[in-house]
Amino acid sequence: MCLFIYTNILQLTVVIATVFAEMVENEVFKYYSNGEWKVSSSGKCVPVINPTTRKTQYKVQACNQEEVDNVIESARVAQKSWAKTPLWKRAELLHKVAAILKQHTKPIADCLVKEIAKPAKDAHTEVVRSGDLVSYCAEEGIRVLGKGNYLVSDSFPGNERTKYCLTSKIPLGVVLAIPPFNYPVNLAVSKIAPALIAGNSLVLKPPTQGAVAALHMMHCFHLAGFPKGLISCVTGKGSEIGDFLTMHPGINCISFTGGDTGIAISKKAGMVPLQMELGGKDACIILEDSDLDLAASNIVKGGFSYSGQRCTAVKVVLVIESIADTLVKKVNEKIEKLTVGPPEDNCDITPVVTECSANFIESLVMDAKQKGAKFCQEYRREGNLIWPLLLDCVRSDMRIAWEEPFGPVLPVIRIGSVEEAIRHCNASNFGLQGCIFTKDINKAILISDAMEMGTVQINSAPARGPDHFPFQGLKDSGIGSQGITNSINMMTKVKSTVINLPAPSYTMG
Ligand code: NAP
Repeated sequence: MCLFIYTNILQLTVVIATVFAEMVENEVFKYYSNGEWKVSSSGKCVPVINPTTRKTQYKVQACNQEEVDNVIESARVAQKSWAKTPLWKRAELLHKVAAILKQHTKPIADCLVKEIAKPAKDAHTEVVRSGDLVSYCAEEGIRVLGKGNYLVSDSFPGNERTKYCLTSKIPLGVVLAIPPFNYPVNLAVSKIAPALIAGNSLVLKPPTQGAVAALHMMHCFHLAGFPKGLISCVTGKGSEIGDFLTMHPGINCISFTGGDTGIAISKKAGMVPLQMELGGKDACIILEDSDLDLAASNIVKGGFSYSGQRCTAVKVVLVIESIADTLVKKVNEKIEKLTVGPPEDNCDITPVVTECSANFIESLVMDAKQKGAKFCQEYRREGNLIWPLLLDCVRSDMRIAWEEPFGPVLPVIRIGSVEEAIRHCNASNFGLQGCIFTKDINKAILISDAMEMGTVQINSAPARGPDHFPFQGLKDSGIGSQGITNSINMMTKVKSTVINLPAPSYTMG
């Protein structure tokens, strides 16, 4: 019996390995163009560095401009017939992808562990969540795009009922998707699935760290049997091919998630719709009447999950002075229990994505130290691994009060009043999410109204999901609103057809 199970597992592993074999040649992952896996004619590749070992884990193709031109041209051609493919057939293919993705969770999750040091359990969750997102998007697309609108002219002053206006949603054309390193699979499918269900074609430029997980995900679309050229994936450093992609005249929409790069893209991109999900400095306001145990759990989970490398991580705690000592003590007790180490061991805190990120986090910590912040733990770093750190008594002249560390370092600012907390939040360039802990729901709603944030959570840490909720940033945190329904709508435009009846003198009866 045991031997039988073992043989089956071995066979499944071999089948899965074979499924992905065509993506690699000479240990370099190919890029995906016009329905085929290809080697770049540039002859160059880009290393993907394992954040834990700091050695090259994988290599991907460095695509050149001619290859970008080719994928955009084949996307343009394929989109024309895809737009005419019945909605139910598009949905059927997306459901198929969702099933294939889930079937191949393990190899994709393994890449996330190696490329971006995502704890193994979170890597698994990201892939399953992505499959669910694709399925939901297929269903929602049918509901949203299956509906049109009908207007009659005599509802506007001075008009007779001589015009009937029918509106429906039509695709934009070729959508360019650029996700960040921290959710290279989930944030890729959150762009791909809405684009495809809406009848667009799609070109993906994955983040370099996370590119191999994204290529595996792309292979699931390939296996599902989408038309050639409809969806492609070009790899290479964003700093080298990014401008060529984002300023390309063949691109009709850009959906980007990342940091300040997005602000630069929005200045360069032409007259195309933009969906920008950028950085955040999500504040957590703790009022005197809050449940401090609940607040402490959410601060630790919100601030330190995936080592703080989440756009919706709690990035600053604003606590009323009278309860600050108690809250800080509770938070510290929980921080002590966090495990620190490699992602393969499912540790809570794993190495941050690059040495450059670790150096940046360290620069914020040193600035706070020099200016007198209170260190609740000793600052400790080995390579890209930074131990969790709570900085108490942070003041607004410290960089960490305003900048996004994207690491396991969390500042606490003690405040005298709710008004002071709101002033601090609203003085930030960012406006992604925030949260409030209080038992007074009326007060919470008034504070939410006063906070210049895309979303405010009451009695829970900021979060993006569930993936069908609207998700948007104000100010430098982004343009437009995401979430499955909003993304489908954003990737379409309205088309009207007006039926003009004969003049009233011809009316019958
Ligand atoms: P990033 O450095 O801005 O990179 C994001 C993506 O842009 C990557 O795929 C990158 O490719 C690409 N890129 C780089 N230069 C480019 C250029 N000139 N033109 C076009 N693309 C270019 O961000 P990150 O470090 O990956 O992610 C962390 C940031 O993302 C944080 O600020 C975080 O808050 C934000 N984020 C926001 C959300 C949200 O929903 N609001 C969600 C997740 C993350 P390469 O990897 O090849 O450079």
